Amino acid sequence: MFAVRIDRYGPPETLFLGEVPRPVPGPYDVLVRVRAVGVNRLDLLLREGEVFRIPLPRMAGTDLAGEIAAVGEHVPSERIGERVFAAPILACGQCAHCLRGDDNLCAQFGTLGSTIDGGYAEYVRLPARNAVPLPAGMDWVEGASFGLTYATAAAMLRRGRLQAGESVLIFGANGGLGHAAVELAREAGARVIAVSRQRALDAALIERGAHAVVEPGAGMLDAVREATGGRGADLAFEHVGAATFEHALAALAMDGRLVLGGITTGSEAKLDLKAVFTKRLEVLGCRGSGRRDLDAVLELAARGRVNPHVAQVLPLAQAVQAHRLLERGVYGKIVLTV
Ligand SMILES: [Zn+2]
Repeated sequence: MFAVRIDRYGPPETLFLGEVPRPVPGPYDVLVRVRAVGVNRLDLLLREGEVFRIPLPRMAGTDLAGEIAAVGEHVPSERIGERVFAAPILACGQCAHCLRGDDNLCAQFGTLGSTIDGGYAEYVRLPARNAVPLPAGMDWVEGASFGLTYATAAAMLRRGRLQAGESVLIFGANGGLGHAAVELAREAGARVIAVSRQRALDAALIERGAHAVVEPGAGMLDAVREATGGRGADLAFEHVGAATFEHALAALAMDGRLVLGGITTGSEAKLDLKAVFTKRLEVLGCRGSGRRDLDAVLELAARGRVNPHVAQVLPLAQAVQAHRLLERGVYGKIVLTV
């Protein structure tokens, strides 16, 4: 089958494009004929090998949609032909955390397209519990465009205990995860302050639900104070990491929280202990998402309350161009069709 694989760390051109053996489903797996796969920043980080170092070779592709082509011996054969999309988080499905829908706390936590091969291929092998029925009316491209970003954003906002009426400062609002957070925070009734360095996107972010858009950097604190009547933000939604952490913390109000769900620009930052102590701040880590977060966003997506903005659809064979586009900072999802 045709596949795009990370064989070594490096720029987009190092991706391998070619024929690889078709996977065979294990007893509790399904084999999915992939129709569309979303490109996430995670795919770029895995290929670069700087923030994360996974064993190679690996096929990326956490968000995918397609139809079940074959099943393992312990999976009902009626599932063959089912239209599905992938739940991004791998977990045992049986422990107390998993049964509560908190898969991201499972001891067997993993991510599709990182821990095991993902959807940059004609066929992918998934644990059967990760093949989730695609809601009627959702096409392949839509099905491959929201799982990872929206579920992660929902998990982070839940971890950050965002309440209606609170103000939330969302970093990287021009990217996939930030965009999802803007929509979900708006749905939660929060006052959204989007952080984006691309001023050309201000109108689009306001239309998606942001009350104000601020630029990252030295002038950000004044802009946040102005947007919050001098208080600062109740919650900072942080995933950019080293480049923004210090400013994110400084922008918080008394009793503010910072939820950290990613470290795109690096994992070391200064922590102002005096601010943590005197402003009673909380720094909360959040890894991945749980099935209950995915269920919540699926329900919102099926009702049309949130809409992943698809910027471009390209064939899988143009994965190199897709990675370059995302590196340049395109607004919205890039989806590859297979
Ligand atoms: Zn578990």
